[in-house]
Amino acid sequence: MECLVCRGGIGDSALEFWGVTICQRCQDRLMDLTVDQPEYESYLSAMRDLWQKRFQAARDRRLKDGDSL
Ligand SMILES: [Zn+2]
Repeated sequence: MECLVCRGGIGDSALEFWGVTICQRCQDRLMDLTVDQPEYESYLSAMRDLWQKRFQAARDRRLKDGDSL
């Protein structure tokens, strides 16, 4: 398991959700980031990718179950 953001190894206190993990270090940095910092955009795009994958998976699953959109 590796951190979604920095691709580094994760520690014990990593945050896990939707099958991905964000290490404690990145969580701390996320909290400190403001929108005018260049790093913010890379975090944001990582999260956006995640959301899209998640949304896609949920939609695919719904379609498989036979529900209409
Ligand atoms: Zn990390």
